[in-house]
Amino acid sequence: MLIFEKSREGREISLLPICDVPEVMLSPQFHRNMVLRLPEISENDLSRHYSEIGEKTYGVNQGAYPLGSCTMKYNPKINEELAGLTGFTEIHPLQKEDTVQGCLEVLSMLEKYLCEITGMTHFTMQPAAGAHGELTGLLMIKAFHHKRGDTKRTKIIIPDSAHGTNPASATMAGFETVTVPSDKDGGVDIEKLKEAIGNDTAGLMLTNPNTLGLFDKNIMEITNMIHDCGGINYYDGANLNAVMGIARPGDMGFDVIHVNLHKTFSAPHGGGGPGSGPVGCKKFLSEFLPSVRSEEEKGKFCFVKAENAIGEMKSFYGNFLVVVRALAYLMTLGREGVLQASEYAVLNANYMFHKLKDLYPPAYDRSCMHEFVFSLEKLKKETGVSALDIAKAMLDKGIHPPTMYFPLIVHEALMFEPTETESKETMDDMVQILRDLYEEAHTTPDILCNAPITTSVGRLNEVEAARNPILRYQSNDEKGAI
Ligand SMILES: *Cc1c(COP(=O)(O)O)cnc(C)c1O
Repeated sequence: MLIFEKSREGREISLLPICDVPEVMLSPQFHRNMVLRLPEISENDLSRHYSEIGEKTYGVNQGAYPLGSCTMKYNPKINEELAGLTGFTEIHPLQKEDTVQGCLEVLSMLEKYLCEITGMTHFTMQPAAGAHGELTGLLMIKAFHHKRGDTKRTKIIIPDSAHGTNPASATMAGFETVTVPSDKDGGVDIEKLKEAIGNDTAGLMLTNPNTLGLFDKNIMEITNMIHDCGGINYYDGANLNAVMGIARPGDMGFDVIHVNLHKTFSAPHGGGGPGSGPVGCKKFLSEFLPSVRSEEEKGKFCFVKAENAIGEMKSFYGNFLVVVRALAYLMTLGREGVLQASEYAVLNANYMFHKLKDLYPPAYDRSCMHEFVFSLEKLKKETGVSALDIAKAMLDKGIHPPTMYFPLIVHEALMFEPTETESKETMDDMVQILRDLYEEAHTTPDILCNAPITTSVGRLNEVEAARNPILRYQSNDEKGAI
């Protein structure tokens, strides 16, 4: 029920102090010509309304959230406290540089840390998400080729295990995409890559470890092949949870990269933002970075603009408070903590993987990095219970489902990422639940096929929702009026 439906004329909360400045009438041209409809509700009902909504929400504060590729890890509350400091929240982006030195230092420090973690030379904090970072990086690749008059490089090579945003971003940036298949180990098929490369190759987009949770052992060979033909290597670093502090994309032969602060660097996400997808690059691409960056000169921070900047990707300096959270996170962890976070992420994923793989067949039976993928194809054949059914049944057991049906190359895929912030006990619970569900799939498949039954909304008719979307909520008042 919407707060508007709970509204009763005359109910109110008087929280505002009495106005102590003279009232001035607006000129009539600014007057509203309809009465503004605002909910009228008592404080008690208001408080209950939001508590009710809060109880319907599931997040890392409620329980485990092993949503592969999304890194739903715990976000230390201190980051929220720091991002809420008035020195960060009560500034204006048009303020003079010398009045916001602290904020410029934050931008500059995070850039330095990200460079160290990834092996890049510079970063822009402007992009607002991973996909936005991809577009930024690709436009930089385009600008690089065009500046040399090399306009025939129109193709971006992307493995078939890639995140869907990769081909979408490449298309948005005006490139054609060429898909290369994976080999039997889940890595890039080198022979097929050779065939795909040509003098029309602008670059390669690759995630390593890829979305199967596997590290491509041929990475140097792959990036060298692209360089040899004059292409640029783009690293999709949305998910750096397995490698931060251990291996650097810059050392793997990548030239430009984005990272998702809202995944790896501990900003709450999942509710639609705000996110942040900083883009980093090697020195030879720095001249194309968008907008401005903060740099220290003689003890003072100031904004500098790249010589051949591709333009503005977002207003001002990106989602600054997400940058504050990421910096707070990295400063709390320190160099050793960053490395340890990656090690635990990989250890936890392997722990769960090995506790389950006797029942759920791995898509690729190799040690995983921060996530792993099972194929439930056999279970579906035997019992009629699909990956979707298992995922929905997990809801009834009180845990968030993993990522379903992704990557696309695995049939009936379930992709788990426990993250480094879950304890052994929590993982043991999840393992037990999944083992129980496997049993139930064989004994009471009907129950699983109708799950969930304990959530506020049951199983949705996804076909109906796609064909006949109801995009506007109809309140009780409106229904009554009809
Ligand atoms: C999440 C993710 C993206 C996209 O990031 P958004 O912030 O959702 O745009 C891209 N690539 C990979 C591998 C991801 O996991």
